[in-house]
Amino acid sequence: MLEVRDLVFGYDRQNPVLKGVNLSLEEGRVGILLGRNGAGKTTLFKIMTGVLKPDSGSILYNGKDLLQMSRRERAGIVAYVPQQIDFGALTVYQTVLTGRVSYYTVKPSASDLKVVERILSEMELEDVSCRNVLELSGGERQKVAIARAMAQEPKVLVFDEPTGNLDIANELLIINEAKKIAHEKGITVISSIHDLNQAMYFGDVFFFMKDGEIKVSGGSGVFDEKIINDIYGVAARVVESCGEKIIQYHKESGK
Ligand code: ADP
Repeated sequence: MLEVRDLVFGYDRQNPVLKGVNLSLEEGRVGILLGRNGAGKTTLFKIMTGVLKPDSGSILYNGKDLLQMSRRERAGIVAYVPQQIDFGALTVYQTVLTGRVSYYTVKPSASDLKVVERILSEMELEDVSCRNVLELSGGERQKVAIARAMAQEPKVLVFDEPTGNLDIANELLIINEAKKIAHEKGITVISSIHDLNQAMYFGDVFFFMKDGEIKVSGGSGVFDEKIINDIYGVAARVVESCGEKIIQYHKESGK
């Protein structure tokens, strides 16, 4: 169980960005953070991964506070897949191996190499393992970023806008890969994503952020016209088709 408790953070003291964020997410579930630009999603992810230190509050994984752990210990629990990775001119194999750095000091061991080979095989990246990552398509590169995070053997995978720069086919590839990791491997996935229809397809649990807090959370049942209007200030219609919810926006409402 991943639990964020009373998390408070401001880039400066006068303007807190997170004013007491609380959420919990069970193992093997996909949690989606939703909210307008500037709501604090990336900030929360940066705190989870130890990039930023909160003013107060805690983040617990099975009762242990991630914020009190050493960088190495935390790397064994949480891995981060950023929006865009500045890959060096390495092969796919070498790139995924960099995910093991928190496990070795000078040289990777045979077991580090084994983990990399297993992940390349599981994610069907073996055929491109000797290719330079810079030569791959956006979708393949994003898949390599996930493989690198998986090489940390984390319990929690944090995705910041994983599909931001991808075409629809690659968006689906990445979302399906992340869902598989959560549901088949029991890894907890927490992600942000802009498109609400994509979010409903991707996630199991949804957290709507506004004014530094989680205003509403729950399963896909929480999506309705009122919450979309409250959070985004946009008029929308939620329709059901073949048992699935679809959100349609009123074109005039974004003016
Ligand atoms: P989101 O990911 O939901 O778009 P962010 O976490 O990026 O939101 O930003 C939350 C707020 O914090 C915004 O008002 C943003 O301008 C501010 N912010 C983000 N990064 C910094 C920074 N490095 N220094 C000062 N303010 C920042």
